[in-house]
Amino acid sequence: MASLNEIGTMARAWLTDQHDAMVECLETLVNIDSNSHDKVGTDAVADVIVEWLEADGIEVIRTPRAQAGDILEARLEGDGSDTAHGHVLMMGHRDTVFPTGTVVKRGYTQQGDTGYGPGVADMKSGLVLNIFVLRALKRLAPLPFPVRVLFTADEEIGSPDGSAFIREAATGARAVFNAEPGRISGNVVTGRKGGAAFLIEVTGRAAHSGVSHADGASAIEALARKIVKLHALTDYATGVTTNVGLIEGGVSRNTVAPAASAQLDTRFVTNEQRVALMGAIEAIVAEEEVPGTRATVRQTSGFLPMEPRMSEVLFARYRAQAAALGFDVEGEFTGGCSDAGTTASMGIPTLCGTGPVGAKMHTDDEYCRLETLVPRAQAVAMTVLSLTSSVRRPTQ
Ligand SMILES: [Zn+2]
Repeated sequence: MASLNEIGTMARAWLTDQHDAMVECLETLVNIDSNSHDKVGTDAVADVIVEWLEADGIEVIRTPRAQAGDILEARLEGDGSDTAHGHVLMMGHRDTVFPTGTVVKRGYTQQGDTGYGPGVADMKSGLVLNIFVLRALKRLAPLPFPVRVLFTADEEIGSPDGSAFIREAATGARAVFNAEPGRISGNVVTGRKGGAAFLIEVTGRAAHSGVSHADGASAIEALARKIVKLHALTDYATGVTTNVGLIEGGVSRNTVAPAASAQLDTRFVTNEQRVALMGAIEAIVAEEEVPGTRATVRQTSGFLPMEPRMSEVLFARYRAQAAALGFDVEGEFTGGCSDAGTTASMGIPTLCGTGPVGAKMHTDDEYCRLETLVPRAQAVAMTVLSLTSSVRRPTQ
């Protein structure tokens, strides 16, 4: 049997020849509209991925979902020689932020080494990378441990359906690679803020503001007082921010407002901050600043933070493999959230931004640097292979 070093060389060599095939797959995936709310579209992307993987003899488990796009999990079983530390999980989302119909107006195009189109970087190119890493590893099979690739369909709306599958797929894993786009600098993502969104609803008592002002209880005043306190929770020094970005309320100018509501966005760096912030928000909502008003708060979506300590060990390995392949890479912290926070918060070493390099995500100018497809796939494949000796779990 070949040594892992020899296997690594083989994986690297196979991927070297895949540039054109990867670009072709990228074009196919970009040219399928797949907004998070478009089940037909995200499932059509799934159909293509299943076809490619099964044609290569890779097992794919498809879990049908009624509303959200189906969940796919591709698996390479290990030879059982290294089961102590679990499988390796690679993951990515098939959905984009672009409305159905975008492809007709502006499908995949290419200029030199740059690919354009909806979701080309975020993250159809990351899906292609994960598919080709898996196909490379399949050619060396069986590895000492299992490798799984998860394809979810609703990350751009906060993974309301996907997060449970992510937790399940990540349980017991030795490492997780999330193929969100690499930074424009070429860096990977080693830390991300978490975020949570809330709907705050206040009820008061209506009254004519001229005839019976004193009988009213203004929900708008109560909400306004809460907003001032909620915004005071922002602390740039520690990375905690709060923002009420939408408010609604009232009936007419001359009616004391019987109802008002606000949508609150919060960001935080650690899970400890998240818990403290939730407590502070609940306390502010519970206060009755205006007698006769009542308020409730409900979390509407959320991403857990990817704390930098959860990526340290894995990043060191990735960086060493990248150096061996001839490129420099640093770790970057970003305020943007992703599914990597879910696995990092489970205590599993997690690296994000391992996809091909891209920029201008969520805009019409989004692009992917195609010359990074192969080297970044090689870096992930080599890092996966380096994980045969255990990755020490950071202490929670
Ligand atoms: Zn993304």
